[in-house]
Amino acid sequence: MINKKVVFLDRDGVINKDTSYVSRIEDFEFIDGVFKACLHFKKLGFEIIIVTNQSGIGRAYFTQDDFNKLNEYMKKEFLKNSIEILDVFYCPHKPEDKCECRKPKTGMINQALNLYDIDLKNSWMIGDKITDIELAINSNIKNSILISNTPMKKEEKSLSNFVVNSLEETINIIKE
Ligand SMILES: [Mg+2]
Ligand SMILES: [Zn+2]
Repeated sequence: MINKKVVFLDRDGVINKDTSYVSRIEDFEFIDGVFKACLHFKKLGFEIIIVTNQSGIGRAYFTQDDFNKLNEYMKKEFLKNSIEILDVFYCPHKPEDKCECRKPKTGMINQALNLYDIDLKNSWMIGDKITDIELAINSNIKNSILISNTPMKKEEKSLSNFVVNSLEETINIIKE
């Protein structure tokens, strides 16, 4: 069996503007260049998997059903742009729940590894929070890119292999 190389993407702040606890289609705004970047990944032979903390569900800010509806909408918009998302994993828990899936814990990556044959050495994690980068480290995803859209400490930035301003800019980094 051929191992898939995967680009793991965080959702809020990477794919869509993070206006905090985004749960409605009308509030979901794709960031410029996202489709262009994802088409680039696909062309290089990567699969795309989204891993997202959605504690808004556990906090009862929105329901699982709200999340599912928004998720279907998001995947459809990707499809309209000829991009098939292989899978979306989400953690619905609050930090206090101490679950195994809330990033930077590795539960969501383990779920992906159970379902797909993934070549972590040739895979990437891209996120806008330090917990996304810690997830990459904790689950042995070799490469990580931090999208820095909020001020961050230098030590934190240095945990990732690369720092850019948007997903579109990762096109210049992920080349094979
Ligand atoms: Mg984020
Ligand atoms: Zn969880």
